[in-house]
Amino acid sequence: MTGDILIVGGGIAGLGAARELAPDHDVTVLERDGIASGATGHASGLVSVVADYAERREAARYSIEFFREFDGTGQFSFHERPFVQLRTTPELPGLREEAADFRDDGFAVTAHDGTSLADRYPEMFDMSVHTGAVVFEDAGWVDPYTYAATVADEAVSEGAEIRTNTEVTELVVDGGAVHGVRTDDGEIRADQVVVAAGWRTPDLAGVDLPVRPFRYQTANLETTAEIEDYPIAWDQESRLYWRPEHNGDLHVGGGAYYVSEPGSIRSSTVEGFKRLVAGTIPDRVPALTDARLATDDTCPSGDAATPDHLPIIDSPTNGPVGLVVATGLHGFGIMAGPAVGRAIRAHVAEEDAPFPLEPYRADRFDPNPSWEFPYIAPTAAETGP
Ligand SMILES: Cc1cc2nc3c(=O)[nH]c(=O)nc-3n(C[C@H](O)[C@H](O)[C@H](O)COP(=O)(O)OP(=O)(O)OC[C@H]3O[C@@H](n4cnc5c(N)ncnc54)[C@H](O)[C@@H]3O)c2cc1C
Repeated sequence: MTGDILIVGGGIAGLGAARELAPDHDVTVLERDGIASGATGHASGLVSVVADYAERREAARYSIEFFREFDGTGQFSFHERPFVQLRTTPELPGLREEAADFRDDGFAVTAHDGTSLADRYPEMFDMSVHTGAVVFEDAGWVDPYTYAATVADEAVSEGAEIRTNTEVTELVVDGGAVHGVRTDDGEIRADQVVVAAGWRTPDLAGVDLPVRPFRYQTANLETTAEIEDYPIAWDQESRLYWRPEHNGDLHVGGGAYYVSEPGSIRSSTVEGFKRLVAGTIPDRVPALTDARLATDDTCPSGDAATPDHLPIIDSPTNGPVGLVVATGLHGFGIMAGPAVGRAIRAHVAEEDAPFPLEPYRADRFDPNPSWEFPYIAPTAAETGP
């Protein structure tokens, strides 16, 4: 099919799909606010996809290769940095096995005890509570807004239209097929509709999908330490991650929690998260004892979680013909963005993707799935000490 395609949502999922589809389709993106105004624009931009998509390595490889090729497009930069996981489980032999398994698949991953990590990063990390560290070389960070805007620019240069401040209120469905959408500015007809509206996707698409809104929290710490060349890192004990920021600050994130009132607006972090950051960073990175909280942020609208942490990208069998949904990017949507856009294209254009699509099917879940993750607290109040 090469007819008109409407994409609802100008986050990285919708924009990535527009970029993939625009060269040979008529594509219009409908975004109720501005591009990247949802989770995308608030993200930390870590690209640790080899670690976080450990079971989906073909998609991880696709994303990493995309970022390397996309580096230098417009204003976009991929700051390649190793990703250091400071681990509390399993014991060191288990970490060595993990690393060897990644190496068998061609990824540069190594396991370390405190001494060998210190050989590489002298006096950088305090590992007194850890069993070891795993270092992933295929990693880095991006500025999420610049990434999304550059992807949008490429889509537009290929003929896509992006309409901001246009809210979609419902799909136009007739005879079991989708024929377009209704917006606050009237009806728009199309042959296919992609709904990539974050956790609002199930309601908007009118299909039952297991996604729940959750928020991450972030903070920037000022420091006199020279951290520009620091690796990106994650501490399994506190579940905090960090990376250097453009301006010499340390950007820290974590403290994720499920949002019990999805409509509620919150743009500041909770006290417990600030305490967690203040109590953890100087312990883990002794050079940062002078680090002070400069700013903090949380994504007001939140991201979408799924029970198995992988996105849902599918033409759902319980939805109308011509509908594709893309949701549940689960805190990894920036790093997985290239694969997500490519997977959406595969569904719309009825093509294969360069990686398996089955892991992202909408019907893969148990009827009563568990929503427990060690890194997503049930409530905001439970995100800190
Ligand atoms: C604080 C924070 C830190 C993060 N850090 C990282 C990280 O380091 N690395 C990483 O890979 N990921 C990270 N993420 C996750 C990542 O940001 C998300 O997974 C990803 O951006 C989700 O993209 P999306 O397009 O699905 O959703 P969104 O970016 O939320 O986009 C959905 C869009 O749909 C629009 N919309 C909704 N309803 C309608 C409607 N009715 N009509 C029209 N438009 C509508 C919204 O306005 C929004 O712009 C982080 C997220 C947060 C919040």
